[in-house]
Amino acid sequence: MKVAVFSTKVYDRQFLSAANSPTQHELVFFEPRLNRDTAILAAGFPAVCVFVHDQVDAQTLELIASRGTRLVVLRCAGFNNVDLQAAADLGITVVRVPAYSPYGVAEHAVGLILSLNRKIHRAYNRVREGNFSLDGLLGFNLYERTVGIVGTGKIGLILGQIMKGFGCELLAYDVYRNPELEALGGKYVELPELFANSDIISLHCPLTPETHHLINAEAIEQIKSGVMLINTSRGALIDTLAVIEGLKSGKIGYLGVDVYEQESELFFEDLSGEIIQDDIFQRLTTFPNVLITGHQAFFTSEALRNIAETTFANIADVEQGRSCPNEIRAQASA
Ligand code: NAD
Repeated sequence: MKVAVFSTKVYDRQFLSAANSPTQHELVFFEPRLNRDTAILAAGFPAVCVFVHDQVDAQTLELIASRGTRLVVLRCAGFNNVDLQAAADLGITVVRVPAYSPYGVAEHAVGLILSLNRKIHRAYNRVREGNFSLDGLLGFNLYERTVGIVGTGKIGLILGQIMKGFGCELLAYDVYRNPELEALGGKYVELPELFANSDIISLHCPLTPETHHLINAEAIEQIKSGVMLINTSRGALIDTLAVIEGLKSGKIGYLGVDVYEQESELFFEDLSGEIIQDDIFQRLTTFPNVLITGHQAFFTSEALRNIAETTFANIADVEQGRSCPNEIRAQASA
């Protein structure tokens, strides 16, 4: 199949080309993101392959459908950037890679927890400058601390398993209970109880209308003072302005994020030397107890290989008229 691959970086070309050698699809790599302005590039391609920042809204879908596209292949799990109803109305099939890196993402969340707690990001710079003072580097034992996990699917469960290994207590909130988390000793509670009793809160639910700004001023009122908040899921789970107020008052003791609500203006690009226009993001970077990574939690070689292989398996299913287990339809949640 002829596939227009949008938002491609060097590593995408490398892993997609390697996985395509047996299937020999005709891949054309485009660096720009798919959106209303770039939709013309997909003319004549029955399939487009996109990632987290492509804007696959109703207008973009109409534009690509009018030029022959019938398949949207997501190289990611989240699909909040796709208008599934519009796709269904236009007869466009949408497929995704549901679980390419649950270990990678959970391990990255643990990396943020350990770095923030023991101030490794600050210690790294100090030691390089010959400053061996320990002032300001005091941490705490994770042993017997309580970790609140919001969203206990694949990634949330693995985080629970790892944190259990540190000797942590686990509290959990999800719309469905995961028996594997309960078997670990995790206790499901309502959100206010999780907020009030967790030393570390880690978000692993998808972004939906229900979870949008889940961490807002009201939630911050309920949390334990000095909490560590970790978000490797989607930026808009957090109301960043409210979190900045929480950091200023000390209610939030640590913030570790791999995602940011307005990240599409920043992440995955080298903007060093440019003036960052996002004042809210810039304010976040001024706090010593905030650690931000640029949506890299998924970024392991295993994940890129898995994404590429699943992408071509999805295309093969659709091309050969088989039902695809990774097809997503309008009624599901992103
Ligand atoms: P999953 O589908 O296995 O688990 C998500 C869990 O969230 C499910 O158990 C679901 O029931 C629960 N959930 C749904 N609505 C909820 C609500 N309103 N409140 C609480 N829980 C709710 O997904 P996963 O593979 O564990 O991924 C979780 C999220 O991680 C994805 O949605 C995606 O946004 C994010 N992600 C980030 C990266 C990254 O690189 N930073 C990579 C992959 C995934």
